[in-house]
Amino acid sequence: MCFSDVISNKVPIERINTSLIRSSTINLDILRLDKVHPLISGNKWFKLKYFLINARSKGIKTLLSFGGAWSNHLHALAAAGYHLGFQTVGIVRGEKPANSSAMLKDAERWGMKLIYVSRSDYRKRYEAEYHQALLKALSIASDQVVIVPEGGSGELGVRGCEDILLAGSVQAAEYDEIWLACGTGATMAGVVRSVDSVVHVRGFPVLKGGGFLKADIQQYLKPTETRWSLELNHHCGGYGKMTPELMQFILTFEQETGIPLDPVYTGKLLLALKHKAESGELLINQRLLLIHTGGLQGRRGFSEWAT
Ligand SMILES: *Cc1c(COP(=O)(O)O)cnc(C)c1O
Repeated sequence: MCFSDVISNKVPIERINTSLIRSSTINLDILRLDKVHPLISGNKWFKLKYFLINARSKGIKTLLSFGGAWSNHLHALAAAGYHLGFQTVGIVRGEKPANSSAMLKDAERWGMKLIYVSRSDYRKRYEAEYHQALLKALSIASDQVVIVPEGGSGELGVRGCEDILLAGSVQAAEYDEIWLACGTGATMAGVVRSVDSVVHVRGFPVLKGGGFLKADIQQYLKPTETRWSLELNHHCGGYGKMTPELMQFILTFEQETGIPLDPVYTGKLLLALKHKAESGELLINQRLLLIHTGGLQGRRGFSEWAT
């Protein structure tokens, strides 16, 4: 697959009907970013897009970034590097585990150079001085590398997410609301920036106490932008926390619809929809578009089920 083909990949919208979401009166579509590429999944692909385009246009062959042992972002970066012909370096938080995670094994297989750093070093991941020290240790010249912030965030990442609705040929005006799960909120900011109609974008932070995201998202938007809000009570106990209800819901949802979900982001989003349908919070004939942000590789990190 060549660079420009991958860069302009399309994603499908699917209508879903499931007895799990007990409200016959909503129209529910799901935008399958998990299908953007067989290996480079989900919103992380869009967040990487302009970093890759930039590197390509400058003739830079190496991309370096940061993440944990189950990072969807490092996974997407390693896959993109492998498929598009870039060298990749992953700075991984914490000691090298005795048994590498499936994510780290994939990344290694795709040629990513993995550097394990202590948690205290990892905290310096936004410091220019630390970047210079890393590059020196790796013998990489600073003009020969693109350093991608953790999670693919920052202005370039947000800009890539402005292309999400476009990739699905979404007509935003056909929906009352667009919903998505939030980690840093960068994806949400890009989606809000890209909508050209009155649709409301609702974000569901997957971490506890996600109220701080409001300012993080706001910084990318016009101060007058009001077509968005956050729902803070659907995190299932905090980042990466799995509950029996969440696990059961994900398994049954997949059986009924054929759509796989991950426990960290998309599972919580769909479970939030179920709870809102049950508590009667949805409007009659409400037209919803949910964004499936991918992240399915992370399912392998949960020993609760056998996949
Ligand atoms: C990273 C990630 C998110 C969160 O994206 P942000 O831009 O950080 O809000 C949502 N879903 C999945 C599957 C992810 O991997």
